[in-house]
Amino acid sequence: MSDIAIIGAGFIGLASAAALMRDGHRVTLFDPSGVGQGASFGNAGTFAHYACIPVNNPSVFRDLPRFLLSSDSPFRLRWGYLPHLAPWLARFMMSSLPRRYEASAAALAALLARAQDGYAPLLSDPELARFVRSRECLYLYSNAASFDAASPALDLRKKLGVSFDVLTGGDIRALEPSLAPIFERGVLFSDSWHFSDPPGFLQKLYEQLAAQGLSLQRSTVSAVQPLADGASVVVDGSAQRFSHVVIATGARSAQFATQCGDAVPLDTERGYHVRYPGAQQLISRPVGWAKRGFYMTPMSDGIRVAGTVELAGFGNAHNDSLISLLTFSSKRALPALDQPDNSWLGFRPTLPDGVPVLGRSSASERVIYAFGHQHLGLTLAGVSGRIVADLVAKRAPPLDLAPYAATRFQISPGRCRQQFQDS
Ligand SMILES: Cc1cc2nc3c(=O)[nH]c(=O)nc-3n(C[C@H](O)[C@H](O)[C@H](O)COP(=O)(O)OP(=O)(O)OC[C@H]3O[C@@H](n4cnc5c(N)ncnc54)[C@H](O)[C@@H]3O)c2cc1C
Repeated sequence: MSDIAIIGAGFIGLASAAALMRDGHRVTLFDPSGVGQGASFGNAGTFAHYACIPVNNPSVFRDLPRFLLSSDSPFRLRWGYLPHLAPWLARFMMSSLPRRYEASAAALAALLARAQDGYAPLLSDPELARFVRSRECLYLYSNAASFDAASPALDLRKKLGVSFDVLTGGDIRALEPSLAPIFERGVLFSDSWHFSDPPGFLQKLYEQLAAQGLSLQRSTVSAVQPLADGASVVVDGSAQRFSHVVIATGARSAQFATQCGDAVPLDTERGYHVRYPGAQQLISRPVGWAKRGFYMTPMSDGIRVAGTVELAGFGNAHNDSLISLLTFSSKRALPALDQPDNSWLGFRPTLPDGVPVLGRSSASERVIYAFGHQHLGLTLAGVSGRIVADLVAKRAPPLDLAPYAATRFQISPGRCRQQFQDS
């Protein structure tokens, strides 16, 4: 049995704690906000095992001008943030070239193919399984042209093993009669599910683990120090020693990676949600409007409308126009909606290639990274936790971890040449 610290108590930190405790380790979680906050609090709640198409894909070259200039675009860039973002954005555009985007999609698909197995130990518990709603997810396209624009990405999904059915407008209305008759095409992803209350699920998981000995320190960690036989976590100037430390601090993980020998270009894709209380009966499954970049998910307390991407870092104020866009677009899709009663901003942790970092640090095999899950942290939590536990136990992980290494961002002349050839 080892003493292990996990920094960050979101989906990734909690799932890692569960997997490590199944192996018999003693775990201490560090998070000043408590459990299930951060991006894990307000996401769309979908188990999106079909979502292997990263935001960095070749269509950004076609769509970027419209995204940046149109008032109904779900993608925004805060121009004042551009000087800080420029290196990330340059890598993002490079990662959107066809060969590299296909490599990212394959890396995501390999993880997503194991995502359900990763959740199996958690969802075998009836107390946790009661948060799961097993319904397919429906993507909507308002006309044949927007569906046709998505067909290369759908073809790649199919090639990577994702199964789905294509629907007509009539099929959509039969499935979800409350939707406005403005959608001509749809895609139904089978075998997916969603959480009725994502932070509620994490709170219940935490309570179960706490009853088995998990401890939570509501503290901000300022540093991680790799040691010869473990690593220290620094809180309020004093170091606490552990046999291993897991970095699961979502969008705020880059500082710790730097301390452990890995410069990673992590930034955040900000996303928003609005909630319509009590409206959950209007739809029976998560419904995504592809062009408007959001999902409407029926949850225990209402419909949560979550999505959009804003590149604006941590410090900038909420973007009211994106909240208005979510409100306007969701009412257009579901005319019976009344008024939302709250809104939320969260910080997705995103590397420019859209692939998470999972693996050991360069400075020490005792520091393990599990961050950068962009739009998929809920979906990939179970498999990520399992990989963390495998690395601690020195067991073979369920897949080759090379595509997820923090070192993939190192720049050396040979690597640059290789990347240029790959593109
Ligand atoms: C609008 C929106 C919709 C989404 N929809 C989905 C979806 O439907 N399906 C899906 O799979 N994913 C979805 N996501 C993505 C998903 O929410 C994230 O990928 C996931 O929550 C990341 O989890 P995490 O544990 O890595 O990070 P977080 O949940 O952000 O947790 C990190 C934690 O680290 C803590 N922390 C930070 N710094 C420190 C420090 N110095 N010391 C101690 N603690 C620290 C923070 O307080 C935080 O609690 C969505 C995200 C958004 C924003």
